[in-house]
Order: sequence, then C-alpha cells, then structure tokens
Amino acid sequence: MVRCARFLHFTISPSVDYASKTSKESPKMAMMDLKAISNPLSLCRNQLLHRKLASHKSSYCGRETRRHLAQPVHVANLQRDIKAQSHSYDVVIVGAGIIGLTIARQFLLGSDLSVAIIDADVPCAGATGAGQGYIWRINKEPGHEKWELASRSHELWVNLADSLQQQGMDPLQILGWKKTGSLLVGKTEEECAMLESRAKHLRDAGLGAQFLSNRELQMKEPALVLEEGGAAVFLPDDCQLDAHRAVASIEKGNRQFALNGRYAEFYHEPATGLLRSESSGEIDAVQTSKSTIYSKKAVILAAGSWSGSVMHGLFRNSNMDIDVPVKPRKGHLLLIENFDSFKLNHALMEAGYVNHQSAALQAAVSGAETPYDAETTSVSMTATMDSSGRLVLGSSRQLVGFNTDVDESIITRIWERAAEFFPALREKSLTELKKNRSVRVGLRPYMPDGKPVIGPVPGWSKFYVAAGHEGEGLTLALGTAEMIVDMVLGNPTKVDPEPYTVHRCSS
Ligand SMILES: Cc1cc2nc3c(=O)[nH]c(=O)nc-3n(C[C@H](O)[C@H](O)[C@H](O)COP(=O)(O)OP(=O)(O)OC[C@H]3O[C@@H](n4cnc5c(N)ncnc54)[C@H](O)[C@@H]3O)c2cc1C
Repeated sequence: MVRCARFLHFTISPSVDYASKTSKESPKMAMMDLKAISNPLSLCRNQLLHRKLASHKSSYCGRETRRHLAQPVHVANLQRDIKAQSHSYDVVIVGAGIIGLTIARQFLLGSDLSVAIIDADVPCAGATGAGQGYIWRINKEPGHEKWELASRSHELWVNLADSLQQQGMDPLQILGWKKTGSLLVGKTEEECAMLESRAKHLRDAGLGAQFLSNRELQMKEPALVLEEGGAAVFLPDDCQLDAHRAVASIEKGNRQFALNGRYAEFYHEPATGLLRSESSGEIDAVQTSKSTIYSKKAVILAAGSWSGSVMHGLFRNSNMDIDVPVKPRKGHLLLIENFDSFKLNHALMEAGYVNHQSAALQAAVSGAETPYDAETTSVSMTATMDSSGRLVLGSSRQLVGFNTDVDESIITRIWERAAEFFPALREKSLTELKKNRSVRVGLRPYMPDGKPVIGPVPGWSKFYVAAGHEGEGLTLALGTAEMIVDMVLGNPTKVDPEPYTVHRCSS
C-alpha cells in the first residue's frame, strides 16, 4: 500500500467515466464484481469486458445546460489497470457534493484522521451546484423529527460565518453569506391559517418569528403584491449562502490538509467497486476507474441521488439487504443578471412549497408507493437576490429520472408563477431577458419518507451512508457531517440519529 502517493488529485478532464453514476439508467453497464475484485488480476480482466461510458458535462457550475454524451465503448488497458495507483487513507468518502465535502472538512478539523474524497465528476456537478442556498428553519416544523438536525446545522453555519468574520474575513465574499431573513408567503385562507400557527410554533421554539398581515408584508417587501387576505411568516434569523462560493471555500480549507498528507481529492474518478478483506470480509478499499483507495477506518457513501445505484454496484454479489431508495428529483432555477425592475430585501418562498413537502411525507407515511404522481411537475415560487446581485427564481420539482436537460416550459412556468407574486415581472418577457439569464438544473436526492439516510450500514462495520437530503442538503450539511464523524469516532452524537437510521432501508 502506498500512503498518500499524491496529495491533490484533481485533474480537469473533459471526459468523465460515468460507469457507476449511470448504472441505474444503463443496467447492462457492468459494475465490478465483488468477488472478482478481491483478486486484483481478475479485476483487471473483468474490466476489459466492461463497457465504459465517457460522458461530458458541458456545465457543472451553474452554466446554462448540462448534457451527458455517451461515447463509444472503450476497452480498458490491462497494463494500465495493473499499474492502477493505490493509496491509503483512514477515511474514504464517495461523492464530493456539499455532503461529502463537509464530512471531509469535519474529519480534518475534528480528528487527526486522513481523508480521501472521490467524485465521478467535480463538486458542483450534482445537486449542490443548483442549490438556491437557503439556510432556513422557517419551512421546518418545530417538534418534527428533522427539527433538531435542522437547528443544529443552522447553528453550525452561523458559527462558521461568525468565525470568518472574527478572523477579519467577509462571509459574504467567502460563502455568499447573507442574513436576509426568510418570508414564507401565503395567498389563500388555508395557507394563512397554516402560517399563523407556524409563526406561533416557531416562537414557542424560541425563535423570533412574526406573522405579518398583507399590509405589514408590503412594507417589508414592496415588490410583492398579494390580493386581500394574503399574509406571511417572517423569520429574521434565517440566512442564505451561495453554494458555489461555499463549496470553493470548503475545498480550499480541506486542501490545507493536503500539505501534510491528510487529504486528497480524486475527481473525475467514479467509484466502481469495493475490495474486501479475505479474512474478515470487511471492506478494505474503494476501487475507482483509475485507483484503488484503501480505507483503514471508514468508507462513507455521500453520492446524493446516485447513492442507491452506486451502493447496488459496490455491493453487487454480496449479501447486502439494504436498498437506499433515493431518487433524483429534478429542479430548475432561473437566474437573471443586472435585474433592475426591483430589489428584494429578503429571501422568499410561497407556502405551497412547504405543503408540497409535507404532502409527500403524509403520503409516504400512509404507505403509498410514490407519494404523488411521479410524472406530476410542481412549480412553487422562491425568490431572492444572490451575493452577486442576481435575481434567483425557483423552483420546480419533477421525478423524471436522471435527466438534467433544461426544459424551457418549466422555465416559463417558474417565470409565470413568480409574476403572480411580483407584478413588475409581467411587464417584462423572458425573451427580452434572454441575454441576461441563465438556468441551473440539479437532481435533489429524494427519499420517499422525506428524511435523509445518515449512519452505519448494518452488518458492514466500516460502511456509512449520508444521502437523501432532497431540497435541504445545504441547510443540513454541517449537522450531517458532525453526526457522521461522531459516529465514526464513537462519540455521542449531538442530535438523535434515530430518524435517519439506515435500518429503515432493509429489505
Ligand atoms: C433547484 C434546487 C434548489 C435547491 N435549493 C436548496 C436550498 O435553498 N437550500 C438547501 O438546503 N438545499 C437546496 N437544494 C438541495 C441541495 O442542493 C441538495 O440537497 C444537496 O446539494 C445534496 O448534496 P449531496 O452532496 O448529497 O449531493 P450532490 O451535490 O448531488 O453530490 C453527489 C456527488 O456524488 C457524485 N457521484 C455520483 N456517482 C458517483 C460515483 N460512482 N463515484 C463517485 N462520485 C459519484 C456526483 O458527481 C456528485 O458530485 C436545492 C436543490 C435544487 C436542485
């Protein structure tokens, strides 16, 4: 075993092997056979048979579109595979979205363990790059089982922003951090009744929530015009960040630890298999398309929407009876530069967005196979100005598989929905704004029961999962990272991990 043969392995190549990332869509695509890979030579031979898909994402960090282009079958080179580089770290993390990266950060800051992080692409390629950046509690229900994790995570983000400030840095520049406060806006009588009770629950939980009448709301946010009877809840302490800036800053911090061999990035290297010890049966290493990365302490799967299919691939032919039923839930965001019709003072969301989430939850609890018609598309208004001054409008939800193409009809619906709240938008057309607009598309890792999966996989003492955060992964990232690291280190967790247990995915 070679320890830390290279510190930072982040080659930028336009060609990406999506062997495991796309395994669910391409069942014929061969994944590593577990038995075979306990013998590296048979692994190499097997690899010769495997069809590799090269894929190129034309956008990963918020550019307008992203496309997965299948390339012709490529036969692996035996010689190269035998020489495949091997490395050894205490912890190996699969997936470098916000969840994987913050877990790496927590290990680096909170222990003396070394960490390798693997990604099939690069960090903002997944849902993280499309995230609107709300670090919110207003859309969560105090007392709900996710409340504790959301509160802890919020506290950790605020502490991080404060500590940057204390070190003389500007959290706005570094994280895109803004304490905008949040407005959850209702139009109907039913929504307003829900908001009034939400405001009370939030106050009972010790937060400074205010229920605002239509007139009070107009004073806070003059561009927002509701019909008679509209209202909102306002939570002044809610914040937002810029996912791209936050990721860049976390990566930069992590890379400081590369200098002493405690950190390495393996980007553009999809995890394709696991190596198991012949004596104990325990996981020894993660195999990627280019490297074998040994893990002494833990392997953590944080591959967002791909976690279920990656896990299937990694554990093929083993007796694994866990099926993480995470699904990609596609979302679009519309960003407009140099927008001068109005400014927003806060970040906003329509109450229907919350109802949509809880409707999904209720249906899951009542045993429906899918909480709502998988083909149904929903668009709920979210609106804010980001740290670069762009108007950011969202957002859609669709269960349409791993497709990340921009759908213009969804963009039109997002625009029209926003115009129902901001009449000034009706005076502009999307075509007029063509030059100033960009679109982000991401796949939220959706769990049918509405909760992420965080914890050890029963029967596999070194294997952990942290995935399925749907539309809350940015908010919940730091709390999730803290929880996983405490679990691996054997420390008591700050938040009760029971709601997130992997056990519930046993078949
Ligand atoms: C439109 C939209 C708006 C959102 N707004 C918000 C918001 O305001 N607030 C909020 O809290 N959340 C928001 N979210 C949700 C949030 O972005 C996600 O919950 C979060 O980014 C999930 O992070 P992740 O690390 O689990 O997944 P991802 O970011 O998807 O990362 C998973 C990574 O795994 C990698 N991977 C896949 N297969 C493999 C493999 N075989 N080997 C190695 N790596 C692999 C991928 O390349 C990817 O980089 C939003 C999401 C969308 C789409």
